[in-house]
Amino acid sequence: MSGAKARRTWSFPINSRGYEPIGGTDGGGASARSVAALTENPGCVRRRVIDAARVKAFDLAATLGHPVTRGQSPFAISSGNEFERRLKAGSGYALLVQALAPFVELPAAPCIADFGKAKGVPLGDAALRARAKATEEALAAIVRADTDAPHIVDHPVLIFDIAGAPVFLEPDALAFRVGTKLELVEIKSYPIIDEQADSAKLAATSGQAAVYLLALRDTLGRLDLDPDILSPSFILVAPRNFGRTPTAHRIPLKKKMAALERVIRAIPSTDALLDDLNLPRDLTFDVDPKAADAHATLEGAVRCLPMLYVPGCISACDMARYCRNQAIADDDPSRLGRVARDSLAGVPKLRDALRLATEGLRPGEEHLQDIAETLQAARGALDRARVQVPTVAALAPKATVKKRKGAP
Ligand code: SF4
Repeated sequence: MSGAKARRTWSFPINSRGYEPIGGTDGGGASARSVAALTENPGCVRRRVIDAARVKAFDLAATLGHPVTRGQSPFAISSGNEFERRLKAGSGYALLVQALAPFVELPAAPCIADFGKAKGVPLGDAALRARAKATEEALAAIVRADTDAPHIVDHPVLIFDIAGAPVFLEPDALAFRVGTKLELVEIKSYPIIDEQADSAKLAATSGQAAVYLLALRDTLGRLDLDPDILSPSFILVAPRNFGRTPTAHRIPLKKKMAALERVIRAIPSTDALLDDLNLPRDLTFDVDPKAADAHATLEGAVRCLPMLYVPGCISACDMARYCRNQAIADDDPSRLGRVARDSLAGVPKLRDALRLATEGLRPGEEHLQDIAETLQAARGALDRARVQVPTVAALAPKATVKKRKGAP
């Protein structure tokens, strides 16, 4: 089966069958989060194919019975949305302009280009492409310094090529024209307390912003515009302390962008990957989630795709709970982490590793000799350490038994 044939099967026609397939009606697929996940674990074929098929991993995981909560309660999500709404439409962008004032000088009534919806274009690929085109036109006007160029581009869409597969990115970020510079802004609802944001949340936001910046730089380059007008940083706008007053901080991203670019460049092309996989001809994610056999069909499709699970997936990939479950059920050494996965390469299950450590090799396992020797040495060290550990009885304080008067 050729890779092209396979991709045509997976790129299902959006809503052509009267239902919303896995991936939704907005074109589905990759986001800055999924690109960040891919760069965390670039060797994972499952993640590559899911993204290449433009399937939303978030929805897929939920349909497979392992939904992602991302640690946010419905209350937190709605208050986050409300925070962003107040900064933008709720105040005619005045609150946002005010928060950004220490870094970005904008007119009190800035010119806004909002591409939240593509006019007259139905949802799906066509809408995303229309928004991407509008974004590119706005960026070109900004770089040319046209008098009617927008100061703020809201809800832009960027097309980013990841290893030969186009990815649509929808930053909730904004591009700002400031003098000769273009700035990226991320609005988040987690608080900045005493000038400090939660480090894990800030790292996730920085990873996404770095993807957006690379995509913006690529877009400028593709349009033959000077990519150097883009600041290698982003401005984070979030609530100050425990209130709802916005505060802004500039976060440098130069090193993160360079590292991300190196990883993206090293990812093998999607075409080559698909050609090597030899996947079933009828593989599809074009499944009605309400169909009786949706779960079984999707599970079969996902199981065809080799995974490379490591515990780090939990913080990076929406499929992580499903893959972790599979790793536990399959007794896969990777569930213990990258070191165990790499050290036990070729050992299919953890119980095989235990057997190699206790019983040694079986006929036909000669290729695992070095692993067996290492495991046996580790087991010997563990046994020797165990005999040095004092027993509980030896550690217990000696009981002092008082002799009763008159006792023998
Ligand atoms: S969670 Fe699963 S699909 Fe995602 S990167 Fe890890 S192994 Fe791959």
